[in-house]
Amino acid sequence: MEIKKGIAVSPGISIAKSLIIDSEDYRIPRRSIEPAQRMAEIQRVRTAFQDAARQLGQLESAQERTDGGKIKDIFAVHLRFLRDKSLRSKIRGVITTDLVTAEYAVSTVLREIASHFTNAKDPYISERAADIYDIERRLLKQLLGRRREDVEHLSQEVTIVARELSPTQTAGFDKKYVKGIATDAGGRTSHTAIVARSLGIPAVMALEDLTEIVRGGDTIIVDGNRGIVIVNPDEETIRQCERYGRELTELEHKLDAIKEKPAETRDGVKITLLGNIEFPSEAEIVLQKGGEGIGLYRTEFLYLNRPTEPTEQEHYEAYAKTAQVLMQRPLVIRTVDLGADKYTQSKRFAPEPNPFLGLRSIRFSLQNLTMFKTQLRAILRASVLGRVKVMFPLITNLQEMMQAKMILRDVMDDLDEESIAYNRDIEVGIMIETPSAALMASALARGADFFSIGTNDLTQYTLAVDRGNELVSTLYSAADPAVLYLIKAVIQDAHKAQIDVAVCGEMASEPEHIMLLLGMGVRTLSLTSPMIPEIKQIIRSVTIEDCNNVARKVLGMSSERQVSNYLRDATRKILPEAF
Ligand code: PEP
Ligand code: MG
Repeated sequence: MEIKKGIAVSPGISIAKSLIIDSEDYRIPRRSIEPAQRMAEIQRVRTAFQDAARQLGQLESAQERTDGGKIKDIFAVHLRFLRDKSLRSKIRGVITTDLVTAEYAVSTVLREIASHFTNAKDPYISERAADIYDIERRLLKQLLGRRREDVEHLSQEVTIVARELSPTQTAGFDKKYVKGIATDAGGRTSHTAIVARSLGIPAVMALEDLTEIVRGGDTIIVDGNRGIVIVNPDEETIRQCERYGRELTELEHKLDAIKEKPAETRDGVKITLLGNIEFPSEAEIVLQKGGEGIGLYRTEFLYLNRPTEPTEQEHYEAYAKTAQVLMQRPLVIRTVDLGADKYTQSKRFAPEPNPFLGLRSIRFSLQNLTMFKTQLRAILRASVLGRVKVMFPLITNLQEMMQAKMILRDVMDDLDEESIAYNRDIEVGIMIETPSAALMASALARGADFFSIGTNDLTQYTLAVDRGNELVSTLYSAADPAVLYLIKAVIQDAHKAQIDVAVCGEMASEPEHIMLLLGMGVRTLSLTSPMIPEIKQIIRSVTIEDCNNVARKVLGMSSERQVSNYLRDATRKILPEAF
C-alpha cells in the first residue's frame, strides 16, 4: 500500500482498478517481454512504420500545393524520419536489450530525440520537437489503435491514471465507468479539474510521480476531498474509505434538503447563486442543485472533442437548448475562451512559447472574426428565447472591449438586414480576470452592463503563477492579499458605476471564501453545481455583518497564510463538515 498526497480538485471518494493512459489517450504499457517475444515485437515496429509511411505518403500526394507547399513539405519531413533506418535500428536495440514492448520502445526513443530537439538553442531546430511528437503519435496509433477504444468504450469501472489530461480528454470520459482521476500534473483551477468537477468525478492532481508507481490494474482509492490517492490499499483502509464515502453521501443528502430554500443570509440579504456549465446538459443539474440560472457558460467546450468547428446552427442549438431549460432565468453565455490549455495548441504546427500569455480567449476571437461572428449570430438568435446575456472573456483593455462590442453591433446589423429576430437590448458583460482589467475597472464599467470576476485567471496573472503547474501550486491562492485588493477594487468600481458584479472563478465554490466575498460586497456567485448546496448552507448561516467583519479583518492582513488560516477557522465554526 502506498499513499500519495496531491491537490484535491474534485470532491468525492472512489475505489477502482487503474487504467493508465498517456496524454494522447494511448495506454503505454510498461510491460516487459520474454526474450522469445523479441522478434514479434520488432515485427510490430516494422509494420507500424510501414503502415504509418503508407498513410503519410497518401496524405502527401493528396495534398494540393495551395499553401505554397508548406503542408506537403511537413509530410515529406515526417516521411523522411519514418524511412530513416537508424531510427528503426535504435528502437530494435531497445526492445532487444531492455526487453520491453514495441510501443514502449517507440515512445522512449522518440521522446528522447524530441527532448534533444527541444533543448536546442536554434528555434528552428527546437520547433522540430513537435514533428517528432507527431510521428510518435502516428506510430502509437498504429501500434495501439484498437486499444485506444478501451478508454472510449469502457465496460468496467476504472480510475484513470495519467501524467496529464487535457480538458478535451476529460470531457469525453464516460462517468458511468470512470470513477476517479489521478494525475501527476495539474492544479485546482486547471480546466481539466473544472471538467472533472462538473462531471462529478472525484479527482486528485499534482501527484508528481504517481504514473511511475502505479501499474495497470492496481487498485486505487481517489479521495477528492482530502487530496489523497492510495495505491493497492489493504482491507482495513478500503473499509475506512467506504465508510467515509457513505458519510459524504449522507452530508450531500442533508444539504440537498435546503435546495428549495432561498440563498439568503440570516439578516435577510438575498444572494444570487448561479451555476457554471460547460455543456447544455448541465443546466438541468444546476437547477436541481438549487441554482437560479447560469452565470458562466464556457462555450469553448463546443469546439473540443471534434475535428471541425461548430456551425452557427450547432452553436444556436446548444444555446437554445440551455435557454429552454432555464426558461426566463439568467443565462450568461461567454464567448469562446480558446487558447492556453484549450484547443489551439494542438492545431498549431509549433506551439506558442507562452500560451497563457499568447493568443487566447477574446484575442483569439478578435483575430478569427468569421468564427467570432458565427458565435455572436447564434447567441443573438438565441437571445429571444430567454434571459440571455453575452460575456467577453479575458478583456485586458478598453479597446478590446470596444472592438468586441463593435463586432457584436456589426452582427446585429447583419441580422437586421436579414430580418432575423434578436434581443436588441441584450446585456453585454465582461470578465475581469487580468490585473490590467481590474486596475481599469472604473473605465471598463462605463462600457459594460456587468462584470464577472474570473478569479482563476486573475490569481494566475496577478501572482505570475501558472494555474495548472503543480510545481508552483503552493504559490497559487486566490486568498493572496494582492489578489484580494484587486477583487475589492473591482467590486467598488462596479458599485460606483451601478453595474452588477459577480464572481465566477473557483473561489466562489470554496466554502472558506464565501464570507469574505459577501463582506467585500459581492451579491452574485456563479459556481460548479455540486457545490451549490454547501455554499447556500454557508450563506444561510451568516449575517452580512459577520461577513463585513471578516472582510474588514482580512483586508488588513498582509500574508496569504494569515488570510487562509483565519478564513478556514471562521468557516469551520459555521460548517464544520466542510473541512
Ligand atoms: C476564471 O478565470 O476564473 C474563469 C472563470 O474562467 P476559466 O476558468 O474558464 O478560465
Ligand atoms: Mg478565465
